[in-house]
Amino acid sequence: MTCLASLAGLLVLGVTSRVQGYDNPFERPVSKSPDWSALNRQVGGRLSTGAPYAQPCFSSSFSSSQCTTIQNDYTDEVTRSHQRGAYIQTQWETCQATGEQCLLDYLAPNNSLPTSPPAQCRMGSIPQYFIDVQIPDDVSAAFTFSKKYRVPLVIKNTGHDYKGRSSAPGSLALWTHNLKNITYILNFKADGCSKTNSAVTVGAGIQWGEAYEFAEAHNITLVGGCDRSVGVAGGWLQGGGHGALSNTMGLGVDRALQFKVVTPDGKYRTANACQNEDLFFALRGGGGGTFGVVLEATVLASPQLSLQTVIVSFAAKNTTLTKQMWSILADNGLKWADEGWGGFSQANIAILLNPVISKEDATTSMAPLIDFGKQLQAANVTGAALVVTTFPSWGAFFQVFTGDHVAVVGSSLALASRLINKSNFDAPKDRTALVSGLLAADATAPGLIILISAPTSFAGDGQTSVTDVWRSSLYHVTVVSPWNWNATLAEKKAGYDTASKAIDNLRKITPEAAYLNESDVHEPNHEVAFWGKHYPELLRIKKKYDPDQLLDCWHCVGWNPKSTRFSCYV
Ligand SMILES: Cc1cc2nc3c(=O)[nH]c(=O)nc-3n(C[C@H](O)[C@H](O)[C@H](O)COP(=O)(O)OP(=O)(O)OC[C@H]3O[C@@H](n4cnc5c(N)ncnc54)[C@H](O)[C@@H]3O)c2cc1C
Repeated sequence: MTCLASLAGLLVLGVTSRVQGYDNPFERPVSKSPDWSALNRQVGGRLSTGAPYAQPCFSSSFSSSQCTTIQNDYTDEVTRSHQRGAYIQTQWETCQATGEQCLLDYLAPNNSLPTSPPAQCRMGSIPQYFIDVQIPDDVSAAFTFSKKYRVPLVIKNTGHDYKGRSSAPGSLALWTHNLKNITYILNFKADGCSKTNSAVTVGAGIQWGEAYEFAEAHNITLVGGCDRSVGVAGGWLQGGGHGALSNTMGLGVDRALQFKVVTPDGKYRTANACQNEDLFFALRGGGGGTFGVVLEATVLASPQLSLQTVIVSFAAKNTTLTKQMWSILADNGLKWADEGWGGFSQANIAILLNPVISKEDATTSMAPLIDFGKQLQAANVTGAALVVTTFPSWGAFFQVFTGDHVAVVGSSLALASRLINKSNFDAPKDRTALVSGLLAADATAPGLIILISAPTSFAGDGQTSVTDVWRSSLYHVTVVSPWNWNATLAEKKAGYDTASKAIDNLRKITPEAAYLNESDVHEPNHEVAFWGKHYPELLRIKKKYDPDQLLDCWHCVGWNPKSTRFSCYV
């Protein structure tokens, strides 16, 4: 009865959908006769049709209450991350190549122009169907279905991916978002291993905001990113996972103890240091969406730590002051990394955090930055602020930090990344070149972020698959280049070119290395840049677990660039 009721709902959804479908080459049904009803029965009625988030604002419904809610929440990342048909960067909802889309104006979501005739709501790259994944059998059924009918699969967790790896035109999405279990285990022993660790097991749908709240309640520290709605166990963890504590506490992959994963042969496997070790290695940096569908991950939990914190900021962008501030960061970079500092900086702010030293030592260590902050205040620089404080935990810091600093959401944008090596800090001429490179990159694509989040002081266990250059790096730097709903094809291409050209200023002075989750969509030599010497082994593992290439994504291990699933990229 339940199953029939759900199926009826599914059919109604399909019939009444106002999305214009199947009228462009990328929205064609992917097979002559995939038996969606049978698949729906197999997955307990949890198959549903996809639809763009902004769909209720089209077809004369712009003033409806449903549309008003969407307009109000359009740039809210948490709301977006809960929607099947929404992505944080909106170009991944669209078909960039053809212009098929269903977007609002992210700068003014109540602007009616994007939805006014002749505009129509188009599916773009939104998956055609979604399975709300609850159990391993849901995933096995999807793999069998994909193999039989050649329907492209994607795995979607939060839709944060900067490279469009969680959407694809005409695809079937495995939506892991509702796997919300989370448990703290004081003496966690990975299956088949003997060593115990304090650990947290998360379902694949847990997001960092939820994990940090859980950590606070249990007086532990989890090392995660700077955004509350990114997923813990999906792309973040499997692609590396950096955060402001990574200098001393490691990347996400360093702290992964075990994965439970359905591989493309339909088997539910446990991967850890004692079984399926090759898969464990691949999931520790080989990238999301490639080796299987992770249903849960267990990560190391550390005791709660207080954080010495120094923040210097000023209101407006001022290149002279930015140069002074970034020169201070560069001149002290090696010393501060050794002393345990991590953090972030943009043109008018630097936030430094340290979980391993006392307040007194922190104040001595940070004297050059603190003096700079005092000089800004003495000179009455607009908005000059200096904070030297201790937060009792990462969660306490994060609450303040996320209140003030929320990433750009609801726009389309191109990103590019570079890892900045220790060697860039060696001699005065290296540091001068670095600061010039950072300023030039920020001038080309304003919004550059220095993430002081490389595992510089954390050796790792040698069993992760991210490029080893992470270990000899101090910074991961990103630049950003956004565009709005009405950008032309040429303007979108220019957006990608701008991010790429901006990061060229750093490419020319650094080793070939970038963070795969935040890299240039057109990263040159991406296999070396993301994985270095590990790529051949990752490719071998990919072929072993996914010989039919049921999983594929942009610039992922073993990808097929000619696949039609990439037809919307530009
Ligand atoms: C606002 C913002 C802030 C960010 N901050 C940080 C940061 O501080 N540190 C950092 O390291 N990164 C950060 N990132 C980058 C982030 O790591 C990537 O966007 C990452 O891909 C997000 O993973 P997700 O699972 O949340 O997103 P999704 O888009 O849902 O998935 C991303 C990729 O992982 C795959 N995937 C998802 N779930 C699974 C699963 N269960 N099993 C297998 N594959 C899966 C998808 O197929 C896709 O390939 C940030 C991104 C954004 C947009």
